[in-house]
Amino acid sequence: MKRTVLAAAFAAALLSPAAADAEVRILACEPEWAALAEEIGGEDVTVHSATHGRQDAHYIRARPSLIAKVRRAKILFCSGADLETGWLPVLLERGGGRIVQPGQPGHIMAADHVQVLERPEVVDRSLGDIHPGGNPHVHLDPRNIAVLAEVLAGRLEQVDPERADAYRQRLASFQARWADAMAGWRERAAALRGMKVIVYHKAWVYLLRWAELDRVAVLERVSGVPPTASHLVEVLQQVRNSGARAILRAPFDPDDASEWLSGKTGIPAVELPFTVGGRPEATDLFSLFDSTLALLEEARDRS
Ligand SMILES: [Zn+2]
Repeated sequence: MKRTVLAAAFAAALLSPAAADAEVRILACEPEWAALAEEIGGEDVTVHSATHGRQDAHYIRARPSLIAKVRRAKILFCSGADLETGWLPVLLERGGGRIVQPGQPGHIMAADHVQVLERPEVVDRSLGDIHPGGNPHVHLDPRNIAVLAEVLAGRLEQVDPERADAYRQRLASFQARWADAMAGWRERAAALRGMKVIVYHKAWVYLLRWAELDRVAVLERVSGVPPTASHLVEVLQQVRNSGARAILRAPFDPDDASEWLSGKTGIPAVELPFTVGGRPEATDLFSLFDSTLALLEEARDRS
């Protein structure tokens, strides 16, 4: 009897591509969500990221390979709040199955589940602002990662109920390790509290709020628009005696403005990883926050 069942199952696996390919495919828009999907999904999922750590998720193309990936995905996991507005709607329209469409269990936009900061009262798109829905870079507050871990586990249980136990167990293990890590980061952040920083793009607001750092200037006058020479001169006046200790940029931000300002002021320009893979040492979510804090500590000690 048992043998018959096994044989039947084996035959079904050979015949049905769905059975042979039973793991849940997850398409993440950014590497941080791909990393979280690996943590919670483990061996039961296959994860692809639409962007890598040195790519700016504001600006990629909805290329055919991504359309093919979203077609096979049961879960789409993105930042939301308009970060992917230039390409995600095209992916969903051309390749997305029902399960990954808005309102369905396979559609996760991180910004829908946490408090979004910097929501503009008036959006003037003529200025080219790429944050019309508020600041979408929610992953750099580690508390938001914990919230999204819970959301993702719930969605995995919905789309793949047979493996609900495995998802729940991995979630519990992740949350325990994450809470431990956060306690350590909290202590390190306390020693950085009040540190003044200048940023290139408004990519760091969640990190700065969590760590209680103080943003004294932004090099982009409008989010997504490179600074003009006259704006940079204004920033220079503004920060000369501000006590700022670092000029922060992501790996994909242009480096000319921050290096220019650093040269004029002696404030170190620091490239933080921003996401998993943004620097070689940021190999997962844990080392992303470890290395980010280490670079901030180094800047504080240097200036
Ligand atoms: Zn942005």
